[in-house]
Amino acid sequence: MKTIKLDILAIAAHRDDVEITLGGTLIKMAEKGYKVGVLDLTRGEMGSYGTPAQREKEARKAAQIMGVCLRENLGLPDSKIENTYENRLKIVRFLRKYKPELLILPYWKGRHPDHYKTPELAYEAAFLSGLNKLKAGGEKHRPRKILYSLAYYDEKPSFVVDITEQMDRKLEAIRAYSSQFMNLKPGQEVPFTKTDVFESIRSYNRYFGMMIQKGYGEPYLMKETMEVEDLLALGVNSI
Ligand SMILES: [Zn+2]
Repeated sequence: MKTIKLDILAIAAHRDDVEITLGGTLIKMAEKGYKVGVLDLTRGEMGSYGTPAQREKEARKAAQIMGVCLRENLGLPDSKIENTYENRLKIVRFLRKYKPELLILPYWKGRHPDHYKTPELAYEAAFLSGLNKLKAGGEKHRPRKILYSLAYYDEKPSFVVDITEQMDRKLEAIRAYSSQFMNLKPGQEVPFTKTDVFESIRSYNRYFGMMIQKGYGEPYLMKETMEVEDLLALGVNSI
């Protein structure tokens, strides 16, 4: 069987991270016909709720809802992600196999150490993957572009993707993680919010949607400057 060549690959520490931070974008890109893949680095064995086996089933269901064509798990130890050479090579093998053009990584700051170690590890792997002489199997491949998916209010994004049309399906994908979000007793706190988790996610995406005069949005940072070719095609009105 021929290996898929991915257009977009999202890498995240834990199953359900991509759904929460950039699920709407992945759905939108898949709808445009792009081949979208997800690489989760850990199996979630340190999560407060559910088991790795449960979360695997949930992740598969969520992938189906989002329309991504590939989802794999690197099996690194949960809450112990380290930027080691060995771990970089594991990601290099994945990049060389599926050859994504665009890489989406978590924002480089975060509360959970896995979240801010993931982008550093993946960035270095993406660089190494393009080295001719690096013996890791497969041909060299370096993604052309790297974006960082924001997960906080206190940073101004480089740009926002309009996910108004995809918002309901994004929430459906998150609901697939019933061990994480559906069995919480009233008042039971999930790590990143003390209020209803779906309400919080909706507000978060509404906030960024308002920045671009749309219903809902997902925010991104990039380290390069954005190039504009046609000034009249620029979106978001000034007055
Ligand atoms: Zn996470």
